[in-house]
Amino acid sequence: MALLRGNCPRCNTIGVTFDILYLVSTPYDDATSTSNEAFLKCRNCDKTTSAKIEILNESVVNYTKNIDDFQIKFDHLIAIASFVTLQKSISRSTPDGLPDHIDSRFREALICMEHGCNNAAASTFRTCIDLATRSLLPAEQVDGLSEKARRDLRLRLNWLIKNGQISKKLEALAECIREDGNEAVHLATLDENDVNEIYDFAYFFLEEMYAIQFRLDRARARRSARNIDKQN
Ligand SMILES: [Zn+2]
Repeated sequence: MALLRGNCPRCNTIGVTFDILYLVSTPYDDATSTSNEAFLKCRNCDKTTSAKIEILNESVVNYTKNIDDFQIKFDHLIAIASFVTLQKSISRSTPDGLPDHIDSRFREALICMEHGCNNAAASTFRTCIDLATRSLLPAEQVDGLSEKARRDLRLRLNWLIKNGQISKKLEALAECIREDGNEAVHLATLDENDVNEIYDFAYFFLEEMYAIQFRLDRARARRSARNIDKQN
């Protein structure tokens, strides 16, 4: 049996020996690159696990077809990079064109949501709205926009909707997230339906704020590229 040393995520043994049951290259979702993975069995706990592996030596391909035939250690050929988990998988989509600092939080909120962590999800979606709306406020003093309204998300949303910075069409949904968001922080009483409503508002608001411009920029870039091709 081919062998590999590593740390077992099932029994937490450090430096344990795994039997390598299978090595495979699988395409990523974007189909432009592949992920090398190994199916391993821990010799301490006898449980199996899948690992993403780093190729240390390309000669490993010579051993992959009939790996059971090789009674050797693979430590000089491959190394465990991480273990495969579905914990971070998300089935819902994120709006296009989000800035990185909002995109990472939105994905975090979706992970919380999919694992039933309703209050954490609501609070993190609220943070996305908070970060996005700050950039909509004018830097200068404006009548009707108090310092408190700048700081408080609920008051800030009121002002932005009233002044046309957020679509009136989202007003009803915004009403729900303001209340739910505050509950998420203070009362911790949210259920799945509450979080679904917060997701809806966060998604539609961020989609309107970022995605349309993102798609316009993308279309403009494609048109420029086509024009350059024609000139050449
Ligand atoms: Zn183990």
